[in-house]
Amino acid sequence: MTISLMPLPYPADALAPHVSKATLDVHHGAHHKGYVKKVNDAIAGGKLADADLENIIAAAKNSSDAKLFNPASQTWNHGFYWFSMNPEKTSPSASLADAINAAFGSQDGLEKEFQAQGEAHFASGWVWLVSEAGALKVITTHDAETPITGTANPLLVIDLWEHAHYLDTQNERPKYLKAVIANLLDWGFASENFARATAWKYPS
Ligand code: MN
Repeated sequence: MTISLMPLPYPADALAPHVSKATLDVHHGAHHKGYVKKVNDAIAGGKLADADLENIIAAAKNSSDAKLFNPASQTWNHGFYWFSMNPEKTSPSASLADAINAAFGSQDGLEKEFQAQGEAHFASGWVWLVSEAGALKVITTHDAETPITGTANPLLVIDLWEHAHYLDTQNERPKYLKAVIANLLDWGFASENFARATAWKYPS
């Protein structure tokens, strides 16, 4: 089996004006596609040739194989990011809303924490909402790092790499974060992930 470039879950112009079609075309059609190709090139003919993406990530992490880990983890993170956005208005389930209120005081409190950590993160990476032992927190990871190599279950993510926003907001990462947080985060997807015992799986 080879790892596939999963299709976007919506048309490439669906997130505009917050995230433009021009951004999605290159972000999905060049960046994400490039990571998928590097994974498939690296596993071809080897002992991971038939493994699913989650097992490839775990094996690469365990063997400190950055050449495989980086594109594999980036492939997973991008799939999760596409699903973390939705042009339709969504809202958290009752149980997720309770957990949000317990951890952040309110939905607004969570959104402010997401914005603050996304702005404060230095250079490339990701800002995540995760649940760990039932409690929610916002964390960031550097470069290709992903929560699924640890014990936290990711609920939502925003890509902090400049390629995620440079065509739309140039150097202004805060403006991009604000647009995504206010308009695009998929609280239905977050609720599904919160209800899962194990992390979301990349589509095969
Ligand atoms: Mn990206």
